[in-house]
Amino acid sequence: MARREDFEIAIVCGLPLEYDAVSLVSDEVWKQDRENNDYKTGRIGEHNVVLSLLPGMGKASAASTAANIRSSYRHVRLCFLVGVCGGVPQTGSKEILLGDVVVGKAIVSYDFGRQYPDGFTLKDGIESNTAKPDRSIRKQLATFETSNGRLRLEEEIARFLKKLQAKATQQGCGAKYSYPGTDEDRLFMPGYRHKHYISPTCVCSKCEKGSDPVCEDAVKSSCQDLGCAEQYLVPRTRLKRKREGDIKKAQDPAIHIGVVGSGDRVIKSGEHRDSIAKPKGIIAFEMEGAGIMEEIPCVVVKGVCDYADCHKSKKWQDFAAATAASALQAILGYMPPAKSQVPRRGHFLVPFGRNESFVGREDILQRLITRISPSANRDDCQRTAVEGLGGIGKTQIALEVAFRLHDAYPDCSIFWVPAMEATGFENAYRKIGQSLGVAGIDEDSADVKTLVKAALSRKDAGAWLLIVDNADDTDLVCGPTGILSSLPFSRTGSILFTTRNHQATVELDIPETGIVSIPEMSQTEATELLRRSLKESQAQDTASLTSLLDFLAYLPLAIKQASAYMAKTGMAISRYLQHCRSSDKKTIKLLSKDFEDRGRYRGIGNAVVTTWLISFEQISRDYPLAIQYLRSMCFLAEKEIPASLLRTADDELEADEAIGALKAYAFITERAGQELK
Ligand SMILES: [Zn+2]
Ligand SMILES: [Zn+2]
Repeated sequence: MARREDFEIAIVCGLPLEYDAVSLVSDEVWKQDRENNDYKTGRIGEHNVVLSLLPGMGKASAASTAANIRSSYRHVRLCFLVGVCGGVPQTGSKEILLGDVVVGKAIVSYDFGRQYPDGFTLKDGIESNTAKPDRSIRKQLATFETSNGRLRLEEEIARFLKKLQAKATQQGCGAKYSYPGTDEDRLFMPGYRHKHYISPTCVCSKCEKGSDPVCEDAVKSSCQDLGCAEQYLVPRTRLKRKREGDIKKAQDPAIHIGVVGSGDRVIKSGEHRDSIAKPKGIIAFEMEGAGIMEEIPCVVVKGVCDYADCHKSKKWQDFAAATAASALQAILGYMPPAKSQVPRRGHFLVPFGRNESFVGREDILQRLITRISPSANRDDCQRTAVEGLGGIGKTQIALEVAFRLHDAYPDCSIFWVPAMEATGFENAYRKIGQSLGVAGIDEDSADVKTLVKAALSRKDAGAWLLIVDNADDTDLVCGPTGILSSLPFSRTGSILFTTRNHQATVELDIPETGIVSIPEMSQTEATELLRRSLKESQAQDTASLTSLLDFLAYLPLAIKQASAYMAKTGMAISRYLQHCRSSDKKTIKLLSKDFEDRGRYRGIGNAVVTTWLISFEQISRDYPLAIQYLRSMCFLAEKEIPASLLRTADDELEADEAIGALKAYAFITERAGQELK
């Protein structure tokens, strides 16, 4: 999810029509900033961008908007001012045509200076009223001034312009952005006035010099209506070439890198324009750059829609705004992707600590990590299941995967939800929502599952892994509010289930290739696990050790419990084995009933019961309160029982001992960081 810190590029437009054109170039759907309606966020190429429309024209409005952007998006380092401008048609041998794009490598405030009767002089000292973007962007702009760099950029702008026009056509406004044509590109000589030539009854008839007034009606009329004469048009070499060349390429804009004049006064006179432009090498005029530059380094990217003279019309505005938006897209493609000052780290919501005694299973771990890691090339939101017997170590495998993935991909968020029962599942979802900052997640009426599903399904949620542990109960999986309907979908996301119920993998629509069955532990792995807690002297009897492992069906949970028992009692393996084999079958059968509804694993399940029974008998003799606890736990969820729920004994010492005993026999595990006090 893109955070405010992830935005380093701002785009500002002065006019709604400019804003509309830029809105056509995002690679993602633009989103309204929820906290501030003035901003829309999107992505262009590899850049997160924030887009804003100025509330009014001119420098002051631009400066205050830029200041607001800076305070809302504190990592914004560069602002593109994108839209339309008045071009200076001729600078030396260089011609600027309507629809061309001007990129400002510097901004000059043209209002600073003195207005003399015979003209306007810019204040001396270019440093005092010139602003430049930072070094890296200036370096980039310099490459566009080489003929190779310019040609490449122009090709890309032409390509993006076609894309923009196609998109506009899809949206039903294609005509707006089409090229007005070479015949509509008319440049009159600087002194030739835009006034009534056909019906000289107004003040226009007395207009001779450049400074003489023309009537109000003339200002609002088109050259055609007034009769501005063709013989005063300036011949343009590039226009001639366009007319003679490939008609499809006529609309392709040229790019001009240079100094842009910025001021509150609109330039509407050819003579005035040239007198300001010439001394400072200004190639275009606009009104907001100087204001933005006071707050944020700014690059002006503007399409030329008129020649800043009295003949200007609005005919070219939309097309020029489109060429500017296309140029912005092309330029952003050259800029290195934003390196946010704050490195992006994924969330890590896993309720267990790392199991330091985790043994073996290397091939399975590798298989899982290859399948679910964020670098895996995929077109889908992968669903993978770790399937196997109760006690085979599925949860431990999933936990190890979570930690390894977290080490290898710190950007990838990892979430863990237990699926034994509905409340635990929903609580875990709420925690995810809280850590993602999902709006409304803490409200009483919040539909937590739907909110979190939506948040993780968003593209900007980034890479994530959702671990759904113990998805065994098909009733809980299906149903209108079940787990299945709460699962998010994202191509950058992946879901890993653990289950002992094959039917659940079918309900969860997990393909056969996504099911990783956990076999018994190998002899070596099981021996290593058993030996870990035993004394050297106990572990020497390898014959009994092998028999015991066989008896325990190589189930990690059973092995853990057996070794916990032997470590505590100091009992030899052979003796323990004897106990197991001689135990009351009727009792085992009774205890097994609890597990029979877990289905097809019943036969092997007994082996776990054997271990459990031995532990159970031992505990019940020594710690009656512990058995009472175990009984009450049967009525609660299998996991996540708060210690406070058990703490009902008057004698705190007795309670501590009982819980200690349950822990010692691995009946219960205490969470890291949760004090039993
Ligand atoms: Zn007139
Ligand atoms: Zn005219």
